[in-house]
Formats: sequence, structure tokens, C-alpha cells
Amino acid sequence: MSSAKVMVIYTGGTFGMTQNGNNALSPSRWDDIVAHISPINKEDFKQVEFTLESFDNPLDSSQMTPKEWVMMAEIIQKNYHSHDGFIIIHGTDTMAYSASVLSFMFHSLSKPIIFTGAQLPVTHTRTDASINLINAIYLAAAKVFRIPIIPEVLICFNKVLLRGNRSTKKSTFDFMGFESPNFPQLGRFNQKIEINKKNILQIPEIPTKFLFNICPDIITINLFPGMNFKFLKYINKSNEIKGIVLRSFGSGNIPQSQEFIEFLEEAIQLNIVIVNITQCKEGSIKPHQYGASLHNKNLPIINGYDSTLEAASTKLMWVLANSSPQDHHALMSKNLVGEITI
Ligand code: ASP
Repeated sequence: MSSAKVMVIYTGGTFGMTQNGNNALSPSRWDDIVAHISPINKEDFKQVEFTLESFDNPLDSSQMTPKEWVMMAEIIQKNYHSHDGFIIIHGTDTMAYSASVLSFMFHSLSKPIIFTGAQLPVTHTRTDASINLINAIYLAAAKVFRIPIIPEVLICFNKVLLRGNRSTKKSTFDFMGFESPNFPQLGRFNQKIEINKKNILQIPEIPTKFLFNICPDIITINLFPGMNFKFLKYINKSNEIKGIVLRSFGSGNIPQSQEFIEFLEEAIQLNIVIVNITQCKEGSIKPHQYGASLHNKNLPIINGYDSTLEAASTKLMWVLANSSPQDHHALMSKNLVGEITI
């Protein structure tokens, strides 16, 4: 009978929150909630050996920074060879950012890293925490349950399994909290666990590479009609910004403002890496489709294709920190771990 070793890392989030004096939810420590986490004590999982790790100070995920991303990554790296799968219990607010950045940090991943969380705390009678964690355990211990091993960073939430770097939080209240608008779901949790085998990444033949550097010196610019472009000059003046994720309109269109074009030209002169993604939830940048396309300006702006904001921004932070300047453009334009469709 096969068995599996699964590591569960608790970082915080609603999953483990309790109400404080003001009725506001804040994270509890692992020791205070572990008694409520029946899945890991369940008879059904007797073939699964769990290793439990917790952040010393569990967080609301709105407080996550690159420091915490690296903390999660380092725990996994240390235990990578001794475990079959990893589950990260995380707040939903920035789960898609953490899942995206970890997908870039672990190159040629050969085991599942599964993010999950909840919309109601595990102590609540109607909690979704237990079922989300149970589904994640099935995936992390895939060989025990004869499910395909998915060598990806995933989000397992409610009825769906999504590629982490394609996911985005879609609801503050719905149990179906996440979606992946530009990529098929990788699985569904119905009476059976159905895995979409044709869309999952293959187990690589080369060893996993760990690259955890992050450059936080980027910003995002969200265009809107009537935007006063004169404020943008402070970005270039800062001399510190190294990358910009530009959220343009539709298939990549921008206002035809001389002031804005001059800002972009100056940013490029300053070697700021600019990646263009769409504000639309669905669809991709289509260079030159319209006269107003940013890509008609003959500027070396990177096409972000159908990237989510979460994937584009964390990829930029990762590329800037882990490659030399002459490679930034090529790496950003490439599909590294299934995050874009070119
Ligand atoms: N604010 C919470 C967090 O992201 C929300 C949640 O977990 O659902 O930590």
C-alpha cells in the first residue's frame, strides 16, 4: 500500500482567523486552531504522514511581502526531497500573488505546491476550510489516491483546481473565491476528483532549480480616461523604479497623449522595463489591432499577452532580480511556467 508525506504550511488568512474585541477577524496561531483541523487527523488519511509548519506570526495576507514569499519558498526548499507535496494555507486576498511568484521561484517543479484557504474560519460551523484542505491533501498525496501528480503551483479552492499563475481572486464572499479567466481549470472537485490531464504541465526531466531573489522596485500604472499624465514624471525622477506593469485598455490601447508617450520614451531611456497587459479580465494584448495600440509607437514595450496582473507583476519582480539586464526583455516575453499563452 503506498503512502505519502505531505507538508502543511500555515501562514494565516481567514482559514485560521477568530474575531477580536472589535469583531474584526485576525489570524490565530496554529496551536489555537489545530484542534479544529480534523482532516489531518482523519482515518481516511492514515496513509498520509503530515509535517506541520507555521509562520511564527500568522498574517492577514494583505500584509504579505517578498520576505514572506521567500520564507514559504525556503521551507519548501528545505523539505523538498523528503516530501511528496506541499500545502500552503494562505489568506485569499493575495493568494494569487503568492502562488504566481512561487511558480517562478521553483523552476522545473516536480511536485505539487498547493495553495488553499477559506472564506469562513475553520472554527465556523459553515466553514469551507475543511473541504478545501481535504481536497488539497488528496492532490498533495496524489499517489495514495491514484490521482495524477501535478508538478505545478496550484490554487485549490471550493470546487476548482487552478494554475496559480493564471488565478485571480474573484469574490470577497462567494465560496467560489477564485477563477482563471484565460486558462482552463486544471481540475474539479465533484463526486470524483476530475483532473484536466491535457492542460497540466509535465513532470520535468531536469532537477528543480530554486531562484528566490525578488526585486520589489516596480509599480503598476492603471490607465483611466482623463488621467493626468504630468504626475508620471515623478516615476522617472525617482531613479529607483526598474519596472512598470502598464494596464492598458482592451487589446493594448492607450490615450494618444504626447505627454504620456514622452513619459514612456524617457522611462525606456532610463532602462525601466515596461510590460503591457490588458485591464480586461478575459483576452490578450493584440499589438496593432487598433490605431491606438501602444505597440504602434515603435517603443520596446513588452507584450504581456493574457497575463493576470498578479502574474505579470510577480514575474517582473522575479525576472529583474534573477537575470541580467540584457535578458529581461526576452524572459518577460517568454512563457516560463504556463503563465501566458503566446
Ligand atoms: N483578509 C483575509 C486574508 O487574505 C481574507 C481571506 O483569507 O479570505 O488574509
